[in-house]
Amino acid sequence: MNVMSIGSPRIFRTHTLLLLIVAFALSSAAGAETLVLQAARLLDVETGDMSRNARVLVVNGKIVGVNPESIPQDARIVDLGDRTLMPGLIDSHVHLTSSGADFTREILTENAAQAALRGVESARVTLMAGFTTVRDVAQLIPSPILIAVALADASEKGWIPAPRIITAGHALSITGGQIDPAMWAGSAEGVMNLGQENGIADNVDELIKATRFQIKHGATFIKIAATGLMSQHGVVGVQQYSEQEIRAVVEEAARHNIRVAAHAVGPVGINAAVRAGVTSIEHGWLLDDESIRLMKKNGTYLVPTTAVAEAISHDFPIEMPNLARVASAGVKIAMGSDASVTRHGNNANEIVMMVKLGLTPLQAIQAATIGAADMLGRPDRGRVEPGMLADLIAVDGNPLEDINALSKVAFVMKGGKIYKQPGCFCHEGRQDLQAA
Ligand SMILES: [Zn+2]
Repeated sequence: MNVMSIGSPRIFRTHTLLLLIVAFALSSAAGAETLVLQAARLLDVETGDMSRNARVLVVNGKIVGVNPESIPQDARIVDLGDRTLMPGLIDSHVHLTSSGADFTREILTENAAQAALRGVESARVTLMAGFTTVRDVAQLIPSPILIAVALADASEKGWIPAPRIITAGHALSITGGQIDPAMWAGSAEGVMNLGQENGIADNVDELIKATRFQIKHGATFIKIAATGLMSQHGVVGVQQYSEQEIRAVVEEAARHNIRVAAHAVGPVGINAAVRAGVTSIEHGWLLDDESIRLMKKNGTYLVPTTAVAEAISHDFPIEMPNLARVASAGVKIAMGSDASVTRHGNNANEIVMMVKLGLTPLQAIQAATIGAADMLGRPDRGRVEPGMLADLIAVDGNPLEDINALSKVAFVMKGGKIYKQPGCFCHEGRQDLQAA
């Protein structure tokens, strides 16, 4: 064996260089730094307790201590002053690749690359608004490319400042149904006849193929349009898939350990989707007593998207749901803004709206933190506790006293990396680029 002397100058230089490279790599890896966040208040979203003069210790992108007795000497202290620290918010219903300004024009004139670039900007403003996780529940651009999957990947790799993205790819819809892009575009027959790659499916076999296509190409949730809101010839909220068809999708997704969200507005379709085993009902505006009974029994979440209900209520006979009644009946609620129809970056308006419709500020915050994390099957986020991902925000004021505080997000951290900081010029997730 040819053993070289450790003391060899050449080996020593190589060894030192390697150590330097390793040290540099560790120090420049996202979130590798030891940080202490301190603020006047820290909200425990589970109990509603507000601790004073709080400190949160963050190491390697994870929370390792909350109000610890001592802090490491080399920790960098980030003083957030008279603000409230709380977990990063979760929006369970967004469409990053659409602006909502004109769905028809976007569907007909934008390609996948343009929609991806639009999505990068939507994702950035969403993160800056304090949302560190979102679920993207359907792309309307009629490309078989799953654009939000690419955005999720880019976010994960740190290419773009964006929330963590859980995505459904294309929603499953009947031909001419609620989430058929051709319906939104109003295209003539023979133009834009979409198939399972775009989520268009009209029977169990097609639904299974459409589900498998989304999952094959990276979808981490499945979305099905169980009912219309509007459709080419539909009544508001009418059922579009049978219970048997929805169940086939739920069972196929479950074989991949993936959950299903159902767009459902009218009570017959809501109840069929709940019985079929979906994880969440999106919108659910016309739910009835039987819906409430079934949802409580099955543990189905309601994502009420109330801000969009208000926005379109002049065009559709939609009653605003009484969320106090729904919550007190034991139905679990997760927050979803339907951003695209509402403005990307204004996601917190939905939380404000939920309070107007009867939830307490703490209940509305829970719907956007622990509730959403549970619905999404992501127990590593939504709370400020040791072991959780270091996804944290700080807001001006006290959100339990004034829920509008959630619209004043001053600090955003995702995975231990600071994207927005009061008084810091290098915000908006670009500090790494500047440092490089
Ligand atoms: Zn939507």
